[in-house]
Amino acid sequence: MTAVMRAAVIGAGVVGLSTVAALRAAGAEVTCFERGPAVMGERSAGSTRIFRLAHEDPALVRLARWARAIFGEWESAAGRRMIGPEGCVVSGTAVAGMAAGLRAAGARSELVEPAGAARLRLPAREPPAVSLIDPEGGITDVDAVRAHLGERAADVLVHEPVRSVEPHGAGAVVRSASGSHRFDAVVVAAGAGTPALVGSLGLDVPSTLAHHVRFTLPDPGAPPDRPCWIDDPAGGLHTYQHRSGPRQWTVGASMDPALVAWEVGREAAEAASRRAVLAHVRERLTVEPRIVGSLYCTTTAPPQGDGFVVQRTGSVLAVHGANLFKLAPVVGRALAAAAVDGSTPSAASLAASAG
Ligand SMILES: Cc1cc2nc3c(=O)[nH]c(=O)nc-3n(C[C@H](O)[C@H](O)[C@H](O)COP(=O)(O)OP(=O)(O)OC[C@H]3O[C@@H](n4cnc5c(N)ncnc54)[C@H](O)[C@@H]3O)c2cc1C
Repeated sequence: MTAVMRAAVIGAGVVGLSTVAALRAAGAEVTCFERGPAVMGERSAGSTRIFRLAHEDPALVRLARWARAIFGEWESAAGRRMIGPEGCVVSGTAVAGMAAGLRAAGARSELVEPAGAARLRLPAREPPAVSLIDPEGGITDVDAVRAHLGERAADVLVHEPVRSVEPHGAGAVVRSASGSHRFDAVVVAAGAGTPALVGSLGLDVPSTLAHHVRFTLPDPGAPPDRPCWIDDPAGGLHTYQHRSGPRQWTVGASMDPALVAWEVGREAAEAASRRAVLAHVRERLTVEPRIVGSLYCTTTAPPQGDGFVVQRTGSVLAVHGANLFKLAPVVGRALAAAAVDGSTPSAASLAASAG
């Protein structure tokens, strides 16, 4: 009889939990270490994200389409919708590149001239010059994903911070408060905690942090099917925007890195982000310029493009990337497969296998 593989996943964010689900589906015996009191509490926190196929890189479009299919499997299993039907609109300097990426990957899209912009249902004072509709995008229901993945991992979760991971023979040892634990493979999906865990193993994961905060404002006139919006106006603030509740609109901005650098401190970075978003809202949007909620997280600096990188040393895999929520189902499956077969996946190799 073949021995059952023993695997550890460090981090119960959306990436770690997706990996746990895929490893268990492959028959592995899994332990998931999480330093926080709850799952999906750091970079995966909050209740909404944008899902979109739209990327400049056709490989990422293919991976997002594959991720959508896995979200669909989870939706069927959970009996609950995870990605909304409202679509995603892209405007500004990003339109041409993303339209090309969608086209190259064979995904549906549509360009809309200003004269037709009313049907986009955006909360914009002025119609964007040209807009791109990504009809397969929509709002991700983070609570639904958290409930589903949390349930699939509940009996293998250990709420302890991992202090170190060390290679040991053909496997690795994970050290936590309860002692040293041996595994055949270890997947480090610890978000902001990953560099500290794998740096001493020679894996080069970017370690400089920055602050990020998105804000929620009242949107009393919002139609319920208002699409998500990625807006990159020339010379203006690059924002991502979406509905985050009934008559609520959320706006996050790509800030000047100097204003949100780690050394600036969370308070000053939040204040600068708040000023920038409010000024943008007053100038360009029809939503109320009044902040009623916010969601803070760390990001990795300098700002990373969308996508992910997997590194390996021996039986230890580490993953990092940006805007990973939408790709997490695929990243989790890839990490699980790699833990089992010893490979090191890349976005390009996975996209090629996705067709
Ligand atoms: C405000 C905001 C808006 C975003 N918008 C989008 C979007 O619209 N679309 C999109 O696709 N993505 C978006 N993202 C990005 C996306 O949410 C993240 O990339 C994704 O959630 C990262 O998941 P993760 O599992 O890698 O990290 P995390 O969720 O941070 O999970 C890592 C986990 O590891 C745990 N951990 C760390 N160190 C240790 C240790 N030593 N021992 C044990 N546990 C440890 C942490 O407690 C944490 O739970 C957004 C992020 C934020 C914060």
